[in-house]
Amino acid sequence: MQPLHLYNTLSRKKELFEPLNPPYVGMYVCGPTVYNYVHLGNVRTFLTFDTLYRYLTFIGYKVRYVRNLTDVGHLVGDGDEGEDKIGRMAKLEKVEPMEIVQRFTNDFHTVMAQFNTIPPSIEPTATGHMVEQIEAVQALLANGLAYESNGSVYFDIETYNKRGGQYGKLSGRILDDLLNETRELDGQSEKRSPLDFALWKNASPEHIMRWNSPWGAGFPGWHLECTCMSTKYLGKQFDIHGGGMDLKFPHHECEIAQGDGLTGHDPVRYWMHSNMLTVNGQKMSKSLGNSFLPAELFSGSHHLLEQAYSPMTVRFFMLQSHYRSTLDFSNDALKAAQKGYRRLANGLRISRKLTYAPANESASDEAKQQDIRQAVQQFYEALNDDLNTAVGIAQLFTLLKYINMLYLNQLQVSALGEEVFNLLKESFATFMHEVLGLLEEGMDNQPVLEGLLTLYREYKDQKQYDKVDQIRSYFKAQGLAIKDMKHQIDWAYEE
Ligand code: AMP
Ligand code: ZN
Repeated sequence: MQPLHLYNTLSRKKELFEPLNPPYVGMYVCGPTVYNYVHLGNVRTFLTFDTLYRYLTFIGYKVRYVRNLTDVGHLVGDGDEGEDKIGRMAKLEKVEPMEIVQRFTNDFHTVMAQFNTIPPSIEPTATGHMVEQIEAVQALLANGLAYESNGSVYFDIETYNKRGGQYGKLSGRILDDLLNETRELDGQSEKRSPLDFALWKNASPEHIMRWNSPWGAGFPGWHLECTCMSTKYLGKQFDIHGGGMDLKFPHHECEIAQGDGLTGHDPVRYWMHSNMLTVNGQKMSKSLGNSFLPAELFSGSHHLLEQAYSPMTVRFFMLQSHYRSTLDFSNDALKAAQKGYRRLANGLRISRKLTYAPANESASDEAKQQDIRQAVQQFYEALNDDLNTAVGIAQLFTLLKYINMLYLNQLQVSALGEEVFNLLKESFATFMHEVLGLLEEGMDNQPVLEGLLTLYREYKDQKQYDKVDQIRSYFKAQGLAIKDMKHQIDWAYEE
């Protein structure tokens, strides 16, 4: 197995990844709250964990990947007061809450497929795990870490910390600072301390999503679902828990307290957080009005966009930065990504045409062979170094250089030898497809393009240049170019 190192938010350092029960790996990622179309910021987080899932699988682990859908309990404002996000939408539109959930779940799945992410092994919902959540609240009440107040139940942070818990340890927040930041309780509150968080909320009459419980009709607090579903499918302690940086506090902090409160130990070995996609330095978010939907990006229809960008261009753009760095959206950066992605896509297409059939035995070129072996090795090293896709992609470009040299007859396959030739061709394709999830776009059209290219050659031989030009224009309109080279005629993605 590759020596994979991952940055653990909890220990604040890179650690050698050692799963509890190799080759099995349990990985939980907080999924979306399905009340909104997913924007490009959300996509970044899910792409990060898709890439991690791909790499873990690629190097031989058997991963159970659980990513939930939040369909109740996430309140407007992310706190413990206010309306449920889904319930609010349902009321506004005068539809069933589950219609809202279905619509945005469908959208989420469509978007995830457009970006070529692999579906999780299990995709559980909060409303589908009401029994588990009520049982968890009962267990926390029974061991004195929760209290009931007016039909709601809250987690008792003070008692948890007195018993050795360290609420704040994940996000590095100090309890006293947190208390100072929070408004004083006005005496009206049901909570004993402002830091306590809801495990179960009493449903007010206008709240349409409600379930019967020992404390009356209500609904679970937002943080509880992830504790219950991760425990159910991955066990009381599991390997990796991921999500966007903005979920570190309070969501994941609360998950640690709940899991620890229920079992007496940390629920997660490696906490991983991906950084935010920003626009002009500000987090992309629907509420700030600076978010784009993937569909707007693919059509170029948003006022901040200078042109349309394809899903793989965006995937490449995101993988070009390390997941723990912020990534700022800009047209220039995306245009550069389009160029880079198309160069790689051209490499994939032509690498498929290359075969090991030495025409003349040119001398073995040890230096080039060594360079290729090293680039392959460094690709693994980059991904083993906390999933550094940015450095990994740089190694792909080294491999691409040799693929292009072979294609242009500047290098003979015999100079590489069969073993290195195969290593080059196979590594390039598998790194791109399997690890980075980068596909060639517009592949459905390839037979038509090849047919047109045959006609192009015939028309050219017959000197029918108006027809030749027509075919050229057809390719150009699709972002493709005909390469009329000395030794062959081919097409390529325009770079
Ligand atoms: P939500 O549906 O708002 O809970 O978000 C779903 C996921 O997207 C969470 O893991 C968030 O951390 C993540 N997320 C939200 N906004 C951004 C952003 N601008 N950049 C990266 N990830 C984000
Ligand atoms: Zn969660």
